[in-house]
Amino acid sequence: MDVQTHTTWGAPIMWDGIFQAELYDQKHKSNRSSVALTVFAVGRYLDAYLGAFLNSSERHFMVGLPVRYYIFTDLPEKVPSFQLGPQRSVEIIKVEGHSRWQDISMTRMKIIADTIESVIRHSSTHIFCMDVDQVFVGRFGSEALGDLVALLHTWFYRLPKLMYTYDRNPKSSAFMLTGDFYYHAAVFGGSCASVKAMTKACYQGILRDMENGVEALWHDESHLNKYLWLHKPSKVLSPEYCWDPLIGQQNEIHVTRLLWAPKKYKDLRPNV
Ligand code: UDP
Ligand code: MN
Repeated sequence: MDVQTHTTWGAPIMWDGIFQAELYDQKHKSNRSSVALTVFAVGRYLDAYLGAFLNSSERHFMVGLPVRYYIFTDLPEKVPSFQLGPQRSVEIIKVEGHSRWQDISMTRMKIIADTIESVIRHSSTHIFCMDVDQVFVGRFGSEALGDLVALLHTWFYRLPKLMYTYDRNPKSSAFMLTGDFYYHAAVFGGSCASVKAMTKACYQGILRDMENGVEALWHDESHLNKYLWLHKPSKVLSPEYCWDPLIGQQNEIHVTRLLWAPKKYKDLRPNV
């Protein structure tokens, strides 16, 4: 009773206690669901975060389903080796670095869209796209799968809407005055077709902004929020699925599944 468990358009908001994990696992095993997990580790983010991300995801992410990691990096030879469970595999894809972290973050949208089209749609029925600066600590399982899946941002889910940091510049294609939630771009997912459509639309918005000489306030996240306002997600993940431990204990948080790793922008980003 202490949390919202459905959106106004009827999508479930996944909190501990509203679902039976085994039922989702059975359904997805019998449907032969398979999951791609994309993660970018460019420049100094590779050494700082990738090992802990991958090792923890082997313990907690979609255990029991086939999983294929797509690791995008400018330093393929430095990807750490890690122990893969059965039915789990890795593909490393080389990408260019950028001198601005904003560009590293934004170009993910284009690269994900292109790679879904060329490769991922042939390997996996579902996809999740995640930031690398986080660590799994609890089940992040098949209950999170859906057609278009978005995550409530841990710092915003309890705030009034007027505090959401949507892009308020009318010149940007991410411009919006109101919305449903503030979603976090560190985790999104869905079917290959839906995530391809979303990432493509976000990148097109980013390109239009470049042509107009503007950049959205929170880059790819602003465009993601705009898209998810116009195209409602079929499933919403509670902040259990990407919790910042700096917030401290909250009554409604019974379990945490993925945690923010400490930010070290000054040491890690090419520009600050
Ligand atoms: N990233 C990267 N190298 C960089 C900057 C960003 O690999 O130099 C990738 C990485 O996956 C990172 C994501 O882009 O998690 C988003 O950037 P960041 O996590 O710094 O953004 P924040 O979560 O702080 O908004
Ligand atoms: Mn991040």
